Amino acid sequence: MVIIVFFILHWYASFFLQSFFYHRYTAHRHFTMSRATEKFFYIASFIVHGSSYMSPFTYGVLHRLHHMYTDVEGDPHSPAFHPGFWQTMWQTRNSYHGIYTGKTMVDEKLRKDLPQWPVFDKIAHNWIIRVLWIGLYILFYSSFATAWWQYLLLPFTIIMCTLQGTMINWWAHKYGYVNYPMDNTSKNILPVDFLFIGDAYHNNHHKFPGRAKNAHRWFEIDPIYHVTCLLNKLHIVKWKSQPSN
Ligand SMILES: [Zn+2]
Ligand SMILES: [Zn+2]
Repeated sequence: MVIIVFFILHWYASFFLQSFFYHRYTAHRHFTMSRATEKFFYIASFIVHGSSYMSPFTYGVLHRLHHMYTDVEGDPHSPAFHPGFWQTMWQTRNSYHGIYTGKTMVDEKLRKDLPQWPVFDKIAHNWIIRVLWIGLYILFYSSFATAWWQYLLLPFTIIMCTLQGTMINWWAHKYGYVNYPMDNTSKNILPVDFLFIGDAYHNNHHKFPGRAKNAHRWFEIDPIYHVTCLLNKLHIVKWKSQPSN
């Protein structure tokens, strides 16, 4: 039971940070936050993502490339080129690695306004740190698992952030429904997004990447948008411009 609860909490905490901090703040700049708050979310991402921590800067570049070259040459992770889930994950890993290490040249406009904390990224990226996180997960599972099958969740815990990123990027360009026909394969994965708390509306998002709210139809819900509204009211973040929807 402890493992199941942990896995569910880890899933939502991890995806919240990926969507709120990496996607909507870092890549799209829907809202702003102070440097101190930004550092808080860096540290929170490290604690929650652990062994699968990604550099927000690198994610930001990767995601902006995806919007710029969706489904065409230059897209860092398109199922159009690599139809399998694990192939897409590997392609994303290679694209990420190229940008993180500086082997892939990045246009200045793609770097604009991206938060940077290279020293922190370097520590969080260190393979010894990643191995220590994996050791902690193994210790946790061996302390609380009550049945063998619960260990099947362990690999997903280890790659949580990468797994969720690939799930969105692969699934939302293969299966789902479309509100806005476009010249790319973007889809809304789930009519009621209980799994990706608002980021499943990928077709809506590709049509209007600058819009803060991803839910456009009456049955669609975008919980992260509402959380951001609350954080804006509490002066923790500030909308760049008042959302129109
Ligand atoms: Zn996409
Ligand atoms: Zn986006």
